[in-house]
Amino acid sequence: MPRDYYDILGVPRDASVSDIKKAYRKLSKELHPDKNKDDKEAEQKFQEVNEAYEVLSDDKKRKQYDTFGSAGVGGAGGAGGFDFSGFQNMGGLGDIFEGFFGGNRGGGRTQRSERGRDREVRLTIEFDEAVKGTQKTIALETFISCNECEGKGTEKGSEMIMCSDCGGTGQQTKTAQSFFGVIQQNFVCSSCSGAGRVPDKKCSACSGEGRIQKKETVTLDIPPGIHDGQTLRLAGKGEAGRHGAQSGDLYLLIAIRPDPRFERDGDDIRTHSVLSVLDAILGTQVKVKTVHGDTELKIPAGTQPNQIFRVKGKGMPVLGSSKHGDHYVTIGVEIPSKLSREEKKLMEEWKKTINS
Ligand SMILES: [Zn+2]
Ligand SMILES: [Zn+2]
Repeated sequence: MPRDYYDILGVPRDASVSDIKKAYRKLSKELHPDKNKDDKEAEQKFQEVNEAYEVLSDDKKRKQYDTFGSAGVGGAGGAGGFDFSGFQNMGGLGDIFEGFFGGNRGGGRTQRSERGRDREVRLTIEFDEAVKGTQKTIALETFISCNECEGKGTEKGSEMIMCSDCGGTGQQTKTAQSFFGVIQQNFVCSSCSGAGRVPDKKCSACSGEGRIQKKETVTLDIPPGIHDGQTLRLAGKGEAGRHGAQSGDLYLLIAIRPDPRFERDGDDIRTHSVLSVLDAILGTQVKVKTVHGDTELKIPAGTQPNQIFRVKGKGMPVLGSSKHGDHYVTIGVEIPSKLSREEKKLMEEWKKTINS
């Protein structure tokens, strides 16, 4: 599973370009292969750092990464561009294992205070909104950083002191009997959420949590060409962390209400047009409804049932580009089930000319 680019560079999600550059310069110097000969781990990290820098130093790529995750950059997007990489923190197995084996994800002694939880929201949009893109505002009950104490959790004039429950380590250790013998489990300290420090006097607005529960509205742009089932990520729009820790991300799982007039096939659109048998024989012009409005399609003489015509560039917008898919029209031919006496006579005449 790809690691988070911000984590790799060790910068917050709102880091400025110069902070990112600084972090990159430092890390790439440390990890440079010339300095770490035959060190596979350093080599791997060096590559990760370069990859993260390439994306985060580029405004456009960074924005795409923030929205779509690593699937959004590097061309692997498109129809299969789901980004589940962020779901690892959403409570599932990840959390269980972290609790059990001591959630020091980064390894080493560096403490990391517990990041706010990620949130997932399902959002249904209309087919037409997927074509044109749209802006949506959603309301959700969440945690936001406390304004009174700027997330610190301290009452005005009060300071942070060492957490006595963990002795400032940010971790608590419990021993438990298990099938495997006595095991030690490390937990993030619940009193300080891993920060190692607690307010001397707690902020009265947030009871020292540094965050408050509140109904929040989030406005987001949904890009044209989004696919049903795709997830958008809004970095830092999840729950605020306790005691000023980093916020989680908000994931929007997009569902698109189908439009009975159009069948979507990736970035292409498929429809059917039914011709009379004479139009199929003699050729005609038909009006085709596309997602961009009506267009005329020329049907050549001698068109066969199930023949498919392509209207180039009239399909769905391709996500993240100015291109469009195509519109395919499958032709049906209607055979009259009843003929007037006159018609029948003409048909028989015609048949005679073919047989002779
Ligand atoms: Zn507060
Ligand atoms: Zn503590």
